[in-house]
Amino acid sequence: MSKFWSPLTASLVPYVPGEQPKDKTYIKLNTNENPYPPSPKVIAAIKNAANADLRLYPDPTCEDLVKAAAAYYGLPAGQVFAGNGSDEILAFAFAAFFDPAKKLLFPDITYSFYKVYAKLYGLRAELIPLDEQFQVRVEDFRVDNGGIVVPNPNAPTAELLPLDDIRKLLADHPDQVVIIDEAYIDFGGQSAIELIGDYPNLLVVQTLSKSRSLAGLRVGFAFGSEELIEGLNRIKNSFNSYTIDRLALAGAVAAIEDDDYFKGTTAKVVATRERVTEQLLAMDFKVTDSKANFVFISHNRLEAQVIFQQLRDKGVLVRYFNQPRIDGYLRVSIGTDEEMDAFIQALQEIVGK
Ligand code: PMP
Repeated sequence: MSKFWSPLTASLVPYVPGEQPKDKTYIKLNTNENPYPPSPKVIAAIKNAANADLRLYPDPTCEDLVKAAAAYYGLPAGQVFAGNGSDEILAFAFAAFFDPAKKLLFPDITYSFYKVYAKLYGLRAELIPLDEQFQVRVEDFRVDNGGIVVPNPNAPTAELLPLDDIRKLLADHPDQVVIIDEAYIDFGGQSAIELIGDYPNLLVVQTLSKSRSLAGLRVGFAFGSEELIEGLNRIKNSFNSYTIDRLALAGAVAAIEDDDYFKGTTAKVVATRERVTEQLLAMDFKVTDSKANFVFISHNRLEAQVIFQQLRDKGVLVRYFNQPRIDGYLRVSIGTDEEMDAFIQALQEIVGK
């Protein structure tokens, strides 16, 4: 607490990002990063950009990147927004579309940044409980609201909401913006981008951090009707029109264009996830039906916190949430096959199988 802080600053409970430890080298399965490096073409593009004119400001309209993403998804450029990671885009969207006089809805178990942004923008959040199987029930969102945010797949549960349910959600709330946060969509889900033409209230948010192995570059996208994209641009241009730097712009364009590379690494992550899921089930773990680059697991006997600590002692870092309803679970990012073999071996020593 400081006397210099505004009442808003004093009232915030900031998001705590997953650990980026510096004490030793861990097998790092705690922040859903991709275990594979980005495409070599991305590195080459960033090097080229570094040798070009960093003296100059970047393009505030991100034209090349917006065009590349628009072409990739078959949308007009006016329906695409590029930002500094999807976190930034979510922050802009909360400011652009949600009315503090009304309640913002999101699932009770979900990406914890939503709560933080709601607070930052003075929004009242109502958390809609997931059902017993950790599924989003769209009927439960039929309450008075000023907007909805649903990640798909959800995090940390990894469960996917079918497009038919998203259609229902959009049709049930035609006067509110519905944000579908697709940070993990490329690992087995079907994107809601195809619904944009039918629903002007839909904003789909994606990121290059996960499937494109570029968490370090900080680039994300939003896709939606022109009026929504214009709303985001109004906020961005009232805050910092140069959100994406020259190196990130160049790398991101190359990442979008190198489709084969990303499809190859994504397929490897998915194959590893399926194999590891079988091994976990054989060790008496409950495993949710993951369509993401992580699994959400709970052991039938041992406490999650104990497993978390013992894994940490063995040099394997996973994510434990000290939070009601999911404190029996661990979220484990899918690493390389070698990393996951080490994880499974460490687990076998802990659970005694
Ligand atoms: N949405 C969800 C559901 C996430 O898990 C994350 C990553 N932690 C993000 C958005 C943010 O991703 P980024 O800012 O790296 O694009």
